[in-house]
Amino acid sequence: MTTSLLRVPPPQGLLRPLAVPERLLLGPGPSNVPPRILAAGGQQLLGHMHPEVLQVMDEIKAGIQYAFQTQNQLTLAISGTGHCAMEAALLNLLEHGDTALVAISGIWGQRAADIARRLGSNVHELLKPPGEYFAPWDIEEGLVQHKPSVLFITHGESSTGVLQPLEGLGELCHRHGCLLLVDAVASLGGAPIFMDQQEIDVLYSGSQKVLNAPPGSAPISFSERAREKMLRRKTKPPSFYLDMGWLANYWGCDGEPRRYHHTAPINSFFSLREGLAMLVELGLESSWERHRANCAQLCQGLHDLGLELFVKEEKARLPTITTVRVPEGYDWKEITAFLMDNHAIEIAGGLGPSVGKVLRIGLMGCNSTSGNVDCVLRALRDALGCCRRSRL
Ligand code: PMP
Repeated sequence: MTTSLLRVPPPQGLLRPLAVPERLLLGPGPSNVPPRILAAGGQQLLGHMHPEVLQVMDEIKAGIQYAFQTQNQLTLAISGTGHCAMEAALLNLLEHGDTALVAISGIWGQRAADIARRLGSNVHELLKPPGEYFAPWDIEEGLVQHKPSVLFITHGESSTGVLQPLEGLGELCHRHGCLLLVDAVASLGGAPIFMDQQEIDVLYSGSQKVLNAPPGSAPISFSERAREKMLRRKTKPPSFYLDMGWLANYWGCDGEPRRYHHTAPINSFFSLREGLAMLVELGLESSWERHRANCAQLCQGLHDLGLELFVKEEKARLPTITTVRVPEGYDWKEITAFLMDNHAIEIAGGLGPSVGKVLRIGLMGCNSTSGNVDCVLRALRDALGCCRRSRL
């Protein structure tokens, strides 16, 4: 007779050792984590209010200010992925009934519009076909017509491989009484962005792309204008976890003694600190140049393989994620599976409006090397030969 009260047996999978294969992650993220950052994340825990952890948080803040090129005091890392930062930005800025204008040329605008609608905002969409970007006059037309209080736009549209020019947009928004909110999850460190000079009011990114840290923390910063709008709120932000008032205090941005808000993902912060340290050591300008050069080498190689780049204009190509049309007669899933099975390389198919149309190849941070470009081109050449043969 059994005396156990357990009705759910121990899962056999958990009695086997964890298995993590070696892979080269050349999709749109995450990218591989170098040993130095892995080691930082593998350090023993400290308490979330210990002075050493608060010191690491201060260093992260300074690293984000450098990466964003901003002097904003309200600069910190969200305990969550890029989506979490997107929600934090929108739910702190927008109140029920506010008008938001969302520039949509891929999935990130679609998601921002979805989030803003859930917050009860009046959302107006500015649309461009995938592969294209917005000109200042497109934006101005939307600002004049809808009079929004916030404009959302994506700097690096990872679903289409487009780099959105930001020059003049901040000034334009401010002339129309609107705040500029920019998603730089896929572009930060890979393409120039200057938060203060470009008058960006809210900027956020992620840890797992150019910064080469594991997913789970997300840099974000708010301008004085954005802070003032948040101070004028009539209602509390609808999330306690992402309430910027609380987070500003925990991150030492409000001049008050720091109070416990949540138990921060301390080891994720150690990794993020190290990812930012590596960017600081390399220097932003060298990092931008590295991504530019390796992307150019990749584009040339793809062209030489007879493949067609999805983004026609060279200056509109995102240096971190390159999109190439799925070649005629091929199934994109066969190509990505072939690279994974035969070369242990991850590349991705399309996302949202680019599904079925493109393959996406990411070269981010430490993964942006000439050697990795050669590797992925070799693997693609192999795939184009083999996948076609298997279809004949
Ligand atoms: N914005 C952009 C431009 C992205 O590329 C991503 C991630 N692919 C996100 C937001 C969301 O980030 P996460 O998956 O870390 O939540």
